[in-house]
Amino acid sequence: MTYMKAATASINLSALEHNLRLIKSKAPNSKVMSVVKANGYGHGLLHIAKHSKNSDAFGVARIEEALQLRAGGIVQPILLLEGFYSQGDLPILVTNNIQTVVHCEEQLSALENSQLETPVVVWLKVDSGMHRLGVRSEQYQDFVERLHHCPNVAKPLRYMSHFGCADELDKTTTEQQTELFLSLTEGCEGERSLANSAGLLAWPDSHLDWVRPGIISYGVSPFVDKSAKELGFLPVMTLTSHLIAVRDLKAGESVGYGGNWTSQRDTKIGVIAIGYGDGYPRTAPNGTPVFINGRKAPIAGRVSMDMLTVDLGPDAKDKVGDEATLWGRELPSEEVALHIGTIAYELVTKLTSRVEMEYENE
Ligand SMILES: *Cc1c(COP(=O)(O)O)cnc(C)c1O
Repeated sequence: MTYMKAATASINLSALEHNLRLIKSKAPNSKVMSVVKANGYGHGLLHIAKHSKNSDAFGVARIEEALQLRAGGIVQPILLLEGFYSQGDLPILVTNNIQTVVHCEEQLSALENSQLETPVVVWLKVDSGMHRLGVRSEQYQDFVERLHHCPNVAKPLRYMSHFGCADELDKTTTEQQTELFLSLTEGCEGERSLANSAGLLAWPDSHLDWVRPGIISYGVSPFVDKSAKELGFLPVMTLTSHLIAVRDLKAGESVGYGGNWTSQRDTKIGVIAIGYGDGYPRTAPNGTPVFINGRKAPIAGRVSMDMLTVDLGPDAKDKVGDEATLWGRELPSEEVALHIGTIAYELVTKLTSRVEMEYENE
């Protein structure tokens, strides 16, 4: 027996493969570390990793994510992008062949004070200007020397840094970060990595030995003013639901909690079976587009837990059961995010377990 699902996220794995090929062609001399943190940006960690066969490594944020990849049979190198959190994590890294970032004194001391069976692959994270994580240029030499002397650290040491504003093409910040990183690491033996998606697409000087694309692999643009489509990438996730009611609304009547949208005309309201309980943001304002039957219909009234309402217009022919796309193929998540005042990264990673995940071209 099957029943009609309310909300479905269809993950198009051939779109993913297309995007990964395009990434490779944009940085032909670099290895690719596919970033799959936060459940593959909400797309499903293992499905994404298994269909990224040509990725040279994976980047994750949490040790659990790395362990899930290993348990799922992923054999490529895996890097903890913010490193480990306590000394007790280190034997787990060794057993599961997980690489780590080192960005602070606490991590370095933990490595120095451990007795590990096998050395761990370490990427020294340099703060080149984002000032979130990483060793400052004054500390750099000392860290390099201590890591070199530490028997628990595999040689050669590797080096990485992260951009704070690579999506802002008119700023000089990214060039400054690149210059500082290159000058600090000049003449080093080990591999270097700098570029996220925006670096990969806009700052070729940052490609170096490894690029670390996340969002663009999922077919979502890191730039506000340039869509993934314009860049040749295909959205991997399409989030759909369907109409569960089409109702008449008279001019002057309001819809939903708080009655925060009032119709200026007699119209038809479509009720769609998705809400903030599924991860569609409650903060989506009136006017946020939903794609139905070949056109965009604006959200009218507050998003509730299980439903949202759109103004279909007085002449609407839409019927109960018709599909509605919240974002994806016909409606870029970047465009929806702009209405909501967030970025598409947040939209795709925040879907809840209530959404049915469906994998196409498995
Ligand atoms: C998340 C992350 C990336 C990927 O960033 P995108 O903007 O999604 O490409 C790369 N490097 C590090 C250190 C990250 O944390």
